[in-house]
Parts: sequence; structure tokens; C-alpha cells
Amino acid sequence: MTLDLVIRQARLTDGGPPRDIGVKHGRIAEIAPHIPTEARAIDAGGGRVIRGFADSHLHLDKACLLDRAANPSGTLEGAIGAVSAAKRDFTAEDIHARGARVLEKAIGQGTTLVRTQVEIDPVIGLAGFEAVRRLQADYAWALDLQICVFPQEGLLNYPGTEPLLRAALDAGADLLGGCPYTDSDPVGHIARIFEMARAYDVDLDFHLDFDLDTAWRHLDEVARQTVAHGMQNRVAVGHVTKLSMLPPQALDATIALMRDAGIGLTVLPATDLFMTGRDRTEAVPRGIAPAHRFHAAGLCCTVATNNVLNPFTPYGDCSLPRMANLYANVAQIGDPAGLSDCFAMISTDPFRLLGKEARIGVGSQADLVLLPCQTGATAIAEISRPVWGMKAGVMTFEAPQPRLLPP
Ligand SMILES: [Zn+2]
Repeated sequence: MTLDLVIRQARLTDGGPPRDIGVKHGRIAEIAPHIPTEARAIDAGGGRVIRGFADSHLHLDKACLLDRAANPSGTLEGAIGAVSAAKRDFTAEDIHARGARVLEKAIGQGTTLVRTQVEIDPVIGLAGFEAVRRLQADYAWALDLQICVFPQEGLLNYPGTEPLLRAALDAGADLLGGCPYTDSDPVGHIARIFEMARAYDVDLDFHLDFDLDTAWRHLDEVARQTVAHGMQNRVAVGHVTKLSMLPPQALDATIALMRDAGIGLTVLPATDLFMTGRDRTEAVPRGIAPAHRFHAAGLCCTVATNNVLNPFTPYGDCSLPRMANLYANVAQIGDPAGLSDCFAMISTDPFRLLGKEARIGVGSQADLVLLPCQTGATAIAEISRPVWGMKAGVMTFEAPQPRLLPP
């Protein structure tokens, strides 16, 4: 067989033996210790090769707003209010330009799959959705973009929102999100979101329980509805910062609840750390759900970016290894097995959550990213920056490692 390309000495498993990967017509045609071929060769140098990183929760429509939206209080309410005011001046063109900045950063960081959360309400209408649909097409050469439309400012309290959500789903939005904490009727909000998900046969991804008060929560109602609607393994919840405040027994019970309901958990360390505990003057709680505990119990768990350079999170380089390192640091995880789990939460688990295949095997599309290390744990510990990426056998970015220039 004549190959188009061969990648030499790539490690497909942590610390496993290096393999050659033969590529033909954009797909992986052969994997072997050595492939004799005259085809163009790329040397992976024994580095770890993955399908790419997947960012399961990324707001493109409200990214890069620091020049026009401030949040001096640093609170969730302050951020929602600042973006709500700035949103009145958003246009599809403006959202497209800011979203493109973020996606280009993400591509250069080795991200090949993104779920983006898009706000829908009567003020913004479908402008965000239309801009993100253009981004989906414009950047299809490098990454797959899944669109989750959701009512950030509430559903039942905000007349006109539901018909717009339905219009976006009719027009091809991939899934639906919920945000009960901003609704005047959170339980009704959750019920309506599930009804719509069933009607459109789409997955759900909630913004949930974004505070530190353990006296109440919406998670139980989401779990109840998930089971009632037979939507196990189709529902994810993000933030759920209350989980960081649970004592061991209550945490174990919650892990069992979510495992039995087949609910995935997403933590957004940069935002959760930046916004929670703003009423404290000392011993500020970290406010990050212990996702590794849920992961160890077999739940699908992801670490994701959430916001970039806006009132919710005034930081962002779209590096998922950096985000997973931040999570590991806050969660006090340092052993190789624990760091390997953190790696899974930005590589294999988010692919599973988004219904995509992370495995690299003969017959799969040649979507590959090279890391300058041999194991996932090292990638997290050292915040490894990917060296190059390709989609369907075509290079999408290169980021050469620093070359020292001694005298
Ligand atoms: Zn979010």
C-alpha cells in the first residue's frame, strides 16, 4: 500500500512503546513498530500522540470583553449583569471576531473538539447562534465545534426566550443547556428544559448550583428528571461549586446519586476560583467540585475553560493542560495516577461526554496532536504545550519548542 504520510516513533499509550502511524487519504491505514515506506515522514521523537484535547464548556459569544465590561465586585451577579448590559451592543460580526480569537488560541493549544455554550434571549436573539455557526464552518479545518444553546438569564422569567431556543434547535443547534439559578422558577425551568430536550432528542448541559450554600441545591431535581426521562448518560452539569463544601458522607451520597443517574460533571477551575467565596475576607473557600472523586467512581468528568478574558474570568490562553494543572494544584493531586486522571478529564472523558471517539486506531481519521512528553501525567505536571496538530492528515498548527542559544 502506498501511504501519503508516516508519523514515526509516536507513543499512543502512556509510556508505551513508540509506533509508526501510516496515513492514507486522511485516515490511519497502519500502526506498526516500523513501517517501511518512502512516504513523507514526520518524526514524533517518542512523544505522546493523542486525538487532541476537548474543551467541553467554552463561551465564545461573551469572550474577550474586558475593554467594554467590568465586574468590580468579582461576583457571579456582577459578571452576569456586566455581560447582560454589554450584550445589547453585540452583533453577529462582533461575536464572530471575538470567537475567532478564542478558537485560534484553542487550536494552537492542541484542542480539536469544543462544546460552546451560546446565550439565547430576546435581547441577543439568534445573533450569537448565527455567529457561532459561521465559526463552526470557518474552523472546521482544525476542530469540531458542538453548539449548546441555553438561557443564561432564565427561561420562565424571560418571555420570548423559549421560542428563540426552539428556533435555534430547529436550525441545527446540537444540544440544549439550562441555567435554573437565574430563573424565578428553577424547578419549572428544569422541567421545561427536559421537555424540550425530549422533543428535540438532544443532550443537556446545565449551569448548576454556582454557590457555596449546602442548604439547598438543584442537582437532586436534575437527577430525578434525568432518570424520569430515561436520559442517563445524556446530561452534564457544570460548576456545581456546592459540591466543594460537602463533608465526606454527603459527598459519597452525591457521587452515588450522579452515578446512578448517569450525569457527567464539568469543573471550570479558572471561573470557579475567581468568583466563589467573594463574601469571605480570609480562608476563602476554593469552590471547585472534587471531580477526581467522581471520576474515580466511574463518572464522566471534564475540566474545561468556560470563560476567556471577560467579567467571569479575566484570564485565558485556552490551554487545557494549564487548566488541568490548575485543577490538580487546587485539588492537591500530585501522584502519577491522579495526574493521569486529570489528563483523562481533558482528553478522553470530554470526547465521551460529547459523543465522539478519542481512540486512535486503524481506520480512524488522522486527527493527531503531538505532546513533548511520554505520559499524560507529565503533560499535566509540566503544562506541556503541544508541538503540532493535524486533522485528516493535514497539519493544522505548529508550535516548536524553545531552542536555546548558548554563547
Ligand atoms: Zn459556562
